[in-house]
Amino acid sequence: MLEILRSLVQEVNSARDLQEALGIIVSRVQKAMGTEVCSVYLLDPDSNRYILMASEGLYQQAVGKVSLGYSEGLIGLVGSREEPINLEDAPSHPRYRYFPETGEERFRSFLGVPIIHHRRVLGVLVVQQRENSRCFDEGEEAFLVTVSAQLAGVIAHSEATGAISGLSLTGAEAKDVSFSGVAGAQGVAIGQGVAVYPAADLDAVPEKQAEDIDQELQLFSDAVTAVREDIERVARRLASQLRPEEQALFEVYLRMLGDNALPGEVVNCIQQGLWAQGALRQVVQQYVRHFEMMDDLYLRERAVDIRDLGRRLLSHLQEGNQQERVYPERTVLVSEELTPAMLGEVPRDQLVGLVSVRGSGNSHVAILARAMGVPTVMGLVDIPVNQLDGKELIVDGFEGQLFASPSADLRAVYQEICDEEDELVRGLEVLRDKPCETTDGHRVSLLVNTGLMTDVVRSLSHGAEGIGLYRTEVPFMIKDRFPSEQEQREYYREQLEAFAPNPVTMRTLDIGGDKALTYFPIQEENPFLGWRGIRVTLDHPEIFLVQVRAMLKASEGLNNLQIMLPMISNISEVEESLHLIYRVYHEVREEGYDIHMPKVGVMVEVPAAVYQVRELADRVDFLSVGSNDLTQYLLAVDRNNPRVAQLYHSYHPAVLQALVRIAHDAHAAGKPVSICGELAGDPGGAVLLMAMGYDALSMNAASLPKVKSVIRNLSLEWAGQLLEDVLLLDSPHVIKSCVDLSLRSAGFGRYLRPGKTATAAALKEQMLQ
Ligand code: PEP
Ligand code: MG
Repeated sequence: MLEILRSLVQEVNSARDLQEALGIIVSRVQKAMGTEVCSVYLLDPDSNRYILMASEGLYQQAVGKVSLGYSEGLIGLVGSREEPINLEDAPSHPRYRYFPETGEERFRSFLGVPIIHHRRVLGVLVVQQRENSRCFDEGEEAFLVTVSAQLAGVIAHSEATGAISGLSLTGAEAKDVSFSGVAGAQGVAIGQGVAVYPAADLDAVPEKQAEDIDQELQLFSDAVTAVREDIERVARRLASQLRPEEQALFEVYLRMLGDNALPGEVVNCIQQGLWAQGALRQVVQQYVRHFEMMDDLYLRERAVDIRDLGRRLLSHLQEGNQQERVYPERTVLVSEELTPAMLGEVPRDQLVGLVSVRGSGNSHVAILARAMGVPTVMGLVDIPVNQLDGKELIVDGFEGQLFASPSADLRAVYQEICDEEDELVRGLEVLRDKPCETTDGHRVSLLVNTGLMTDVVRSLSHGAEGIGLYRTEVPFMIKDRFPSEQEQREYYREQLEAFAPNPVTMRTLDIGGDKALTYFPIQEENPFLGWRGIRVTLDHPEIFLVQVRAMLKASEGLNNLQIMLPMISNISEVEESLHLIYRVYHEVREEGYDIHMPKVGVMVEVPAAVYQVRELADRVDFLSVGSNDLTQYLLAVDRNNPRVAQLYHSYHPAVLQALVRIAHDAHAAGKPVSICGELAGDPGGAVLLMAMGYDALSMNAASLPKVKSVIRNLSLEWAGQLLEDVLLLDSPHVIKSCVDLSLRSAGFGRYLRPGKTATAAALKEQMLQ
């Protein structure tokens, strides 16, 4: 069974379109189960009816014509119960509906299983049998459930690309194609999609027509020559170390590169108009499919060689293409997995939006995007990255939505939202030099989180009172080796100088988890519970000492440095770190630098630290809550995983209770406490945190003016009442709604989400219905 499933999934994944995929499924399942009928019904989102989309065994003329209402017949019953229904005599069931055009009266036994993707019923997969006595057994039921679970992803993808919108027999008009993900960075961008791929990833190559066929042929021929030379060189080098049968592998490779084999087919495809990379992908995938379906294990393994050869050719083709990349004026980068390096390649003034299949709103790339003020949508698991290249895109970073090739009406709606947002931001500029003080005189410091120098420039213009979190790993991430002490000193000096005399809190290197350094790879099964933050740097004192030395030297004459330790889960980590910091401090002073001992603080971002705030506070000068990690660890929800993004909620009562406790215990120990997670930059979150007693809120620069404006227009008493009310509630969603509602009724609605003017909102909602 497993073998059948494996090849079924492969075939379905390589189908050209949904119809072909459904055809493959019904015919393979019918054969594998030895049944007379296998059919797929899909729920058309436009008409809310199940439509017979493919069948093996029913009359073909019924396909695409027969449809059932949402709760009609046995199909509707399977869909609404969301579980398999297995009947020996279907026509005797009260919910049986008969369609003469299908020829169905001949069949009695019925097994239907729902096709469900992320809790949403997409359709029903059915097998039927003529004999009365044949009841499908448990094994068959389990097989069909497994097929249906696999099928769900394919269908969701087709639906997301618009392939199944407008299936409706009512002839409803096609709509703007929209994709749903999670909000990464607020704001709206309208621009042109540019798909970027990890190097030499064949599956990620888009299908494009060649602009100049001769040039593509030449590029391909150069790549073949280069790969031939590579292989010959490797073969020569290894000749003395390999047995003859192992050396034969290289001959196989070279034969595959002979003119009549793989290259000949690629050349054919190019001559028919495809660009070289697309032609290569198509041919290699055909070969791979062919080999993978072979029963012989040895031949099946050859698929690996073909794929490897394909990757080598692609890497040479991509080198040939590299210099040519010109980014459009309004670039929306689209990728399977965005990396900080990809962001860095686009000139800043041309980058307007970001879209990533992987990751969620709390991934570091999203945090970077927020710092840069680039509207971003993450976790768009069903988008066809390669089809978005060159398309006009709208990135809605408020709602976590992406629209491809929008209609003029939709574009106008979003243009209005962009204009409103610009107006709001311009209106807040006057607050730059005003204090962040409530109407009843309570003062809170508003600080910024930085990583790049561009953040500093933006932060200053937004009126930040210092840096609450400088993520030192960001400059480490955009290099190809550890930066030297001198290089680090220069980065740190820039940040310290820009804000002096205000405090600049530098966090020691926080790598691991999802923050990888290409030159220091950490491979782990469970990276967020692994070697991260302080655990890495205490194991590598040479990295820690150089970093602290660079920070201290950079602070000479400014005296505004604070050092913060990430991922603390044990008192001993604090003690060891303090020991190293004191050691460096004395050494640097002995070298003749006129420096002061910086304040040292810890991050409270691991649940264990929440219960040891007093012990921690006794040893350090300040505490700062990392609510991003604290939320992920308290709720056991990976901050990067879009599948569980809806469970990641910083308004969860457990998170709020922990935050209250931290503020209380830190103050009881006489130490200041701030927060530098994303919650601080959310207007509602900021109000609650202020009411809990947090002394400073550190956030991305873009959020700062909005938070300041809200706090300046309300009283601490009002905030305290709101906090008291929400602490009585037990659901994160209800808490969020309660906070939003209170802010709206206090007149802060426009800070929550722009575009809510009557016309824009009404038009948008009408279009999305
Ligand atoms: C946090 O965890 O809240 C935090 C500020 O650190 P980072 O997001 O860099 O892990
Ligand atoms: Mg953290």
